[in-house]
Formats: sequence, structure tokens, C-alpha cells
Amino acid sequence: MNTPSRKTIIIVGGVAGGASCATRLRRMDESAEIIIIERGPYASFANCGLPYHIGGVIAEEDQLLVAKEPLFKERFGIDLRTRHEVLSIDQATNEVEIRDLVENRIYRQSYDALVLAPGAAPLRPPLPGIDLPGIFTLRNIPDMRGIKQWISQRSAQTAVVVGGGFIGLEMAENLKHLGLAVTVVEMLPQVMPPMDPEMVAPVHDYLTSKGIKLSLGTAVSGFAETAGHLEVLTKDGPAHPADIVILAIGVRPETSLAKAAGLTLGERGGIRVDEQMSTSDPNIYAVGDAVEVRDRVTGAWTLLALAGPANRQGRIAADAICGLPAAFHGTQGTAICGIFDLAVASTGASEKALQRAGITDYEKIYLHAGHHAGYYPGAEKIHLKLIFRKSDGLILGAQAVGKAGVDKRIDVIAMAIQKAATIDDLEEAELCYAPQFGTAKDAINFAGMIAANHLRGNDPILHWKDPQLANYDLLDVRDPDEFSAGHAPGARNIPLNTLRNSLGDLLKERPLAVYCQVGGRAHTAVRILRQHGHHAANLSGGYTTFRHLTG
Ligand code: FAD
Repeated sequence: MNTPSRKTIIIVGGVAGGASCATRLRRMDESAEIIIIERGPYASFANCGLPYHIGGVIAEEDQLLVAKEPLFKERFGIDLRTRHEVLSIDQATNEVEIRDLVENRIYRQSYDALVLAPGAAPLRPPLPGIDLPGIFTLRNIPDMRGIKQWISQRSAQTAVVVGGGFIGLEMAENLKHLGLAVTVVEMLPQVMPPMDPEMVAPVHDYLTSKGIKLSLGTAVSGFAETAGHLEVLTKDGPAHPADIVILAIGVRPETSLAKAAGLTLGERGGIRVDEQMSTSDPNIYAVGDAVEVRDRVTGAWTLLALAGPANRQGRIAADAICGLPAAFHGTQGTAICGIFDLAVASTGASEKALQRAGITDYEKIYLHAGHHAGYYPGAEKIHLKLIFRKSDGLILGAQAVGKAGVDKRIDVIAMAIQKAATIDDLEEAELCYAPQFGTAKDAINFAGMIAANHLRGNDPILHWKDPQLANYDLLDVRDPDEFSAGHAPGARNIPLNTLRNSLGDLLKERPLAVYCQVGGRAHTAVRILRQHGHHAANLSGGYTTFRHLTG
């Protein structure tokens, strides 16, 4: 038997991508020398759990340490060097220069393969007052400890979170758990920037109902301190007082090592890699938040700060180093954020992303379905938007918001996108059902049916913001009490149950845009009308979507 030659593999960064890469390497190559160089005091900690330890949901800090140092050494035979930083790469000699941050000693270490997994650093723009004490970012355990300590030592009462993305909202929730008065300041007119605006309208209402103040469309211009209290200054509005400020306005890939080594960077500023995670130097691989990846739907290069892809990429780089077949085929950005007991999730392209990419061959439908049978206690609404290609029904993306069952629906659609499925496949999907888990026709099936009914011309859909809506008469087929509680301006009310008797009152020359509360009754109405020679279309998502669009 041939003994494989002993390779030395150095991994820079020992958390999501780096640790996955190291352990996979060991499983595939028992003889390799595997060295992780990690700048911080811990490897393999749960960044995603940090906000929840701040809020006391995860009681012990120790629970955040997914794999501790002895596990790396004893189980995997990995040489983990925490508090060591890689300073530079010498590609001519295949060596890296490392600083031992405890001993303050610099040394060199040679490699056969080098894996860069340095992650991404939180943005800290050079605004006036940005370095004032009390303004924090959150990336690692020392940051988390700093925030916890500041809150307890100062008995902080008020917090401003700058940035309404997923880390910002998770922090807002957890600061609220601690009893602080929390304001989220966001430059855009919506939270969760990757989502389409109408999908986060219920999130805005929900955050407000939880006592979180939202200051949307507000650009922060700087920070000031008066008598030991901070103020977050804004461009056009009032200043927000704060005992603590959390900056959560995004991250930038850590590319300084790659850049200094002359590795190719991409158009979005991340390290450019191929499908095997190899950089422009064949001995150097890069994974995780630091790399640019292809968006599977739009084909555009994108930066993505998500744990799942980082872990997968670490594993792929390990396989490639071991000469095994493996490839990263791009990302669809599948993500979920919990906000108290609300879930907001998405996969694939949003409408915004398609528009940015100049893609016009798409259609969308809205759905507001129960997460399980309505007759079984505890049914919750899922607001779902499905985006698909108009020309052939290929699924392009989905977004969902709700208190239960959101992850299941988005995960099913994520897999459908990965397998290039169409709306017909969603219509046909056979999913598990019992009343406490779903409905015999699941929200996924309904989404496929609505989309297919549209593409087949059985029940064409329209949207509240379509300019052609101006040429239609609005018909509200809900019951009179629902109509009088609120309706779209200019709508005429003919309840579905009386529609057949009222057909004579409707002019065939006038096209009808029909809506109900969520779309189901309007579907039946459209079918009645079309079979009686009327030109009728269904306003997708009904009055519920109208409310999400108009606030
Ligand atoms: P990281 O996990 O950031 O690891 C990089 C490591 O490299 C760092 O520890 C750093 O110290 C080290 N390093 C950098 N440069 C050097 C150097 N020169 N020498 C030595 N070491 C170096 N993602 C999700 O999918 N879901 C979530 O719910 C979620 N929640 C999150 C919550 C928070 C608060 C944060 C901060 C992130 C969250 N993420 C979440 C994002 C996710 O954690 C990252 O996408 C993922 O950790 C990226 O993995 P990575 O290996 O690329 O980088």
C-alpha cells in the first residue's frame, strides 16, 4: 500500500469555513498536517448565537463554543493556534508569516496548501464620533462580552441599533429582552433590505407592537456624547439618545492578506475563486464571507455572509485539496431571521434583485395561507411571495413572513430552485400532512396552483401597482361587513355568493379586477365571470396585499 505524502495545510481563520475545512480534511486525509491559525481567542464559536447570549436566551457563554480546543487536538489531530495572526503570504516560498499575539513573536510556517477563511469585518464608517465609547459592533465573543459588560456596568436603559438587517433586528430583540428601550435607525425605508418592501410591512407592524421604535429612511450623520450619554445624530431628523449603540450596517470581506499577495479580487471586492474554491494561485483556496460567489438565479457576482455556504465551501476546499470531486455551484441566498416569534425568510431572487440584474421575464404571486389546517388550534398565517419566470414557469425566488411554518415552505422552495423546478412541480409536490402540520393542499401547492392558473390563462392575475389597473373596474367579492371595515378606493362590492345573480349588472365591455381578502374567493369569482364572457383578473394577494403595499 502506498503511504500518501504528508501535506501541510494551513487554514487562516478557525470559525465557520475554516473549522469545517479542517475537520473534513482530517476525515479525508489521516496523514496531513493541518494547522489552523486563528487571530481571536476561540475557534469554532457560534457567531449566530451571540445576540441570544446578550439577551439571556442562551444562558451560558460556554454553550457558544461549538468545538473546544481539546476536541480539535484529540479527536481530529489538528494543530489549532488561537491568538495567532497570519500577517502575510509569501507565494514564492509557500510560506506565511505569523504573529503569536501572546508572545508577540513573529515566525514563518510553510504550506503545501493554504486556505483563507478570514470572514468579514463589520462596517464602521468614518462618521464624526464613531470612536466614542459605547458604540459597538458584534462579530465575536470579545465583542459580545464588551456589549454585555457595558450594559450592566452603565445600567443602560436606552439603545439605538443602527441598521435593520438580520443582525440589527436580532440585537433589537435581545436588547428588548433585557428591558432596554430600543430604536432601530435604518437608512432605507424598510428593514431586512434584501426582501421586497411589501413583504416586510407586517414586520414593521410587528416590531412596533413589540415596543421597538423604528426610524426608517433615516441616515445617521454622526455620534455625540453629553454628560456620559450618547446621541445618534441623523441627517434630516432628530437625534436619538442612547446609553449604548450597536452598529449593524453590514460587513466587508476581509481581503487584506489576499490583496497584499496579489490574488485576484472580484468586482464586489471579495476574493475571486473557482468552483473548487481555488484562488488565482492554485495552492491557495478561499472560503466563506471573504469570497465572491455567483448568484444561481441572476448569474451576478455577489457577496454573501451566511454560515451555511461558508461551511459548505470549507468542505469543498478540503475535498479539492484531497483531489476529490466537489464543486460550489453558487448561492441562492437562502436565509431566515427570527424576530421574537416572527420568522422572515427568503430564497432565490427578490423582485428588487431581478430588477437590478435587468431581468424582466418574471411574474409574481402573493399568498396568505394557514401554516396548518384552520380548524386545528393555533393556525398562523404565512405571507408568501413566489417569483417565477413568465416564459416557462421556472421558480426564481420566494419570500415568506409568519409565526410558524415559514422555514418549511422556504426550505422546500429553496430545494425546488436548486433542482431547477417549475411552478408545475410546486403544484404537484407531495408534502407531509396532518392537521397540526399543514393542509391537504399546502401553501406550497397553492402557490404552484395560483401561478399555474395564471400562466395557463385560467385565472390571470393582476397586481395592485400595475399601471394597467387604471383600465379595470375594481370588484370586491368579500362580504359587506368586510367591505365596510376597509376596501380599496373605487371598489364595488358584490359578495361572491350573490355574484351569479348580479352578472347582468356588470358590463362586459369593462374589464374587472377582482379581489377578496387573500385571493381564494376572487379565484372562484374570476372563474364564474370568465365563463360568462367577462374579462376578469384576480388581484393577487387580495386586500391583505393591498394593505401591505399601502400601509
Ligand atoms: P468567520 O466565521 O467570521 O471566521 C473568520 C475568522 O477568521 C475570525 O474568527 C477571524 O478572527 C479570523 N481571522 C481573520 N483574519 C485572520 C488572520 N489574518 N489571521 C488569523 N485569523 C484571522 N449566518 C447565518 O447563516 N445565519 C445566522 O443566523 C447568522 N447569524 C449571525 C449573527 C452574528 C452576530 C454574526 C456576526 C454573524 C451571523 N451569521 C449568520 C453569519 C455567519 O456567522 C458568517 O457568515 C460565517 O461565520 C462566515 O464564516 P467564515 O468562516 O467566512 O468567517
